[in-house]
Amino acid sequence: MKILILGGTAEARELANRLVELGHAVTSSLAGRTQNPTLPTGAVRLGGFGGASGLADYLGSEGIERLVDATHPYAGIMSANAVAAAAASGVPLVRYMRPSWDQPEGADWTHVTTATEAAAALPAGARVLLTTGHTGLAEFVGRSDCCLLVRLIEAPAMAMPPHARLLQDRPPYDLAAETALLEREKITHLVTKNSGGRQTMAKLEAAQQMDVKVIMIARPAYGPALEVSSVEAAITALALNG
Ligand code: NAP
Repeated sequence: MKILILGGTAEARELANRLVELGHAVTSSLAGRTQNPTLPTGAVRLGGFGGASGLADYLGSEGIERLVDATHPYAGIMSANAVAAAAASGVPLVRYMRPSWDQPEGADWTHVTTATEAAAALPAGARVLLTTGHTGLAEFVGRSDCCLLVRLIEAPAMAMPPHARLLQDRPPYDLAAETALLEREKITHLVTKNSGGRQTMAKLEAAQQMDVKVIMIARPAYGPALEVSSVEAAITALALNG
């Protein structure tokens, strides 16, 4: 089978490697934003398709038989494009998405839908650990009445003003280190996306232990698709077992 995986996640790499092992012709598509990305086995293409119609054209011209959306839960545009392109081309789509985190009993989470709302939800004087990535960073940095610790894997294009500090680090993070960070930096608020998965989950438990308030930005809506949350379930859903 010729399979296109929309990737950019550890899960997408894992699935690509497994499908190559099973003998399929796999192409993984990456947006091309990360320097030196870890690559899966199989073919790799870099860069956008030119919207949903560009992706539908690509599916047709390359003779793709299965489409997998294994992008990050917050790559909402790409996921919506995958739904539209699958409908337009008739190529079966499976969405492989890690489950979201659930709010534990007693945890103090404020639910918002955008970075703008999240920035507005911060009280003046808050000491914030910001873990929402590059998107919407300017909204938070605009809160000069707060003290921001901005944790990113790669440095942002924008310079940090005096009330914001960059912390360059890379997951996985563990509970002991996350708790120590919150304590050392006297963090009062954690702003996060609901990325799911184990690699960055410890911050939520640390926040609960340290009475740090969580501002949780909800996942975007992508449109309907057959959705799974494991490699094996994806293989079954793609009907590639036989
Ligand atoms: P996005 O906002 O949903 O997508 C914006 C545009 O980038 C899309 O319209 C598409 O361009 C292009 N694009 C996105 N993912 C692509 C892919 N896998 N292959 C080819 N083109 C892609 O996406 P994003 O949030 O910027 O994420 C970009 C990539 O980083 C994704 O692959 C995602 O899995 C990964 N990632 C994102 C996050 C996050 O928090 N958003 C975290 C970790 C990894 P065209 O319209 O031209 O096709």
